[in-house]
Amino acid sequence: MNIAIRKPSLGSAATAFLAKRHKLLIDGEWVDARSGKTFTVEDPATEEKIAEVPAGDKADIDLAVAAARRAFETGPWSRISPAERSRLVWRLGDLLEQHADEFAELEALDNGKPVTNARRGDVQGSIDMFRYMAGWATRLNGETIPVSSAGNWHAYTLREPVGVVGQIIPWNFPLMMAAWKLAPALASGCTIVLKPAEQTPLSALRFGELIQEAGFPAGVVNIVTGFGETAGAALAEHPDVDKVAFTGSTEVGKIIVRAAAGNLKRVSLELGGKSPAIVFPDADLDLAIAGTADAIFYNQGQCCTAGSRLFAHKSIYDRVVAGVSEAAGKLKVGHGLDPSVNLGPLVSKEQHQRVTGFLQSGREEGAEVVTGGSTIGNQGYFVEPTVLAQTNRDMRVVREEIFGPVVCVQSYDDDDLDAVARFANDTEYGLQASVWTRNLKVAHMMARKIRAGTICINTHNYGDPAWPFGGYKQSGWGREMGKEVMEHYTETKAVAARL
Ligand code: NDP
Repeated sequence: MNIAIRKPSLGSAATAFLAKRHKLLIDGEWVDARSGKTFTVEDPATEEKIAEVPAGDKADIDLAVAAARRAFETGPWSRISPAERSRLVWRLGDLLEQHADEFAELEALDNGKPVTNARRGDVQGSIDMFRYMAGWATRLNGETIPVSSAGNWHAYTLREPVGVVGQIIPWNFPLMMAAWKLAPALASGCTIVLKPAEQTPLSALRFGELIQEAGFPAGVVNIVTGFGETAGAALAEHPDVDKVAFTGSTEVGKIIVRAAAGNLKRVSLELGGKSPAIVFPDADLDLAIAGTADAIFYNQGQCCTAGSRLFAHKSIYDRVVAGVSEAAGKLKVGHGLDPSVNLGPLVSKEQHQRVTGFLQSGREEGAEVVTGGSTIGNQGYFVEPTVLAQTNRDMRVVREEIFGPVVCVQSYDDDDLDAVARFANDTEYGLQASVWTRNLKVAHMMARKIRAGTICINTHNYGDPAWPFGGYKQSGWGREMGKEVMEHYTETKAVAARL
């Protein structure tokens, strides 16, 4: 493995942003937390402090929700035309594109991810999301309904914004998760209170400046940095929030559901995964090996869709294990800001402890560590990309979401597709699966048999703004992106007129 933990310097735009005193965005103004409290944000590659941001809590959430309510009901946003809404959402994509390199650097510094991936994946994906969703603002049609009641009737539906939305996002793709949440909510005319993850609040705060520059009226988007147990909990249970959209752990997803019950606010959840990648004997093995390695090592394995359970047919098992291990060994590990790095640190000390705990558990339960298995260096939250072979369904490493660069390989020798699908479906999650084969029938039959919200054929971790994304089982409720997400941010109103 090629290790180079050296911190390159930041560009001038990101440096200037970091030097600012960071505040909350509430009702169009940058303000301190009411409590005056702040918390420290660190660089996960060096453990150095990079910023101090406000620790918003219930008092700030109350102000932000009140501002969002005013903006929704009486502000200029409540009277805006769909075309003008579309123009504003599109403008966010343009502004993001203008500042793309700065955002890529902030993501690399704050999250630890490789800057090259941040630019190509996180930032470009966010630009694309705003542009795609801008189109939906003018396409939220109702329908006319041919009712059968006696007499003459004109019956139709209207699509209306759901109202004030609380959005709670995680640290693995900080900007992109903000884009996935903000873009459809804005396109449909909602107002928003966004709470970024405590580990990675910087890109959301910088994005707040672009929201102002784009010309959104005060209170349409409010951004409250803070902790999940205080700011997040206050938002999830707030009686004047109409909907909460959450991405994060299944455990916290269940807390959100309970908190939302008070006023029966709408809930959408994008939660964890333990996604299978299944390599059939006829697969293009070069493609499958490179693809399944990327499926687990991309973003240091901190992807909800990570291909963490790798199934290889026994006839090709040894080649797959050797190939993925070799790919792991070739990754260049280092500071995310180094453009030549492919694998950065994990996001936090907590996540580092969690992943190393799983490595220990895998060893104790008898998994074979083919490559990796250890931490790297004494500074920063680095973990070696790891291949665990000889794993089985009963091991914790196979059942639980590790959220690190650790793949568990299992061999199978069954040619019956139902039997293969049973291995894939043997999990409480159902977010994504990938199938690696040259046989079209096998690929599409497996797509039907696997119980997951997204199926990839000869690829993994696929995403596109037009492609609905979400989970079966405990991977969540509802879909993000595509036309499906607009269901979450709109209510359907039925109107019947006697003629
Ligand atoms: P969490 O689910 O705790 O964090 C996601 C978001 O929820 C953060 O903004 C967090 O706030 C917030 N939050 C935490 N507790 C509450 C609460 N009681 N009420 C409202 N909001 C809350 O994820 P973790 O950071 O703890 O990561 C733990 C594991 O979760 C990972 O190892 C991984 O397995 C999984 N995960 C899955 C993700 C996915 O994309 N599906 C993303 C991230 C994690 P804050 O962190 O700011 O305190």
